[in-house]
Amino acid sequence: MICTKCGSLMDQTDKNSFSGRVIREYLCRKCGHTDCEDDGVALWQVLHDAREQDEAESAARPATNPPPTQHQAHPPVQPSPRSLWQRLTGVFRNRTD
Ligand SMILES: [Zn+2]
Repeated sequence: MICTKCGSLMDQTDKNSFSGRVIREYLCRKCGHTDCEDDGVALWQVLHDAREQDEAESAARPATNPPPTQHQAHPPVQPSPRSLWQRLTGVFRNRTD
């Protein structure tokens, strides 16, 4: 950043994003002029806003029409590793017999 008072190159002295925007602070070593540059919205602020918007949209949905939920009374039965192993070894035994 160039000093607006004397035209010298300024040194960046600080960078903070506590306000939700990334602010870079500069100091001119030549004349002592300080300035700051708005570097845009901080990343965490973008994520925060997106999350708030999601919550607002979900709250705006009519509560009388909830999304359909499918409950599986009987989850698919997975073969246990032991029975699978017995089946594999059984095939192997059948081939050798
Ligand atoms: Zn200066």
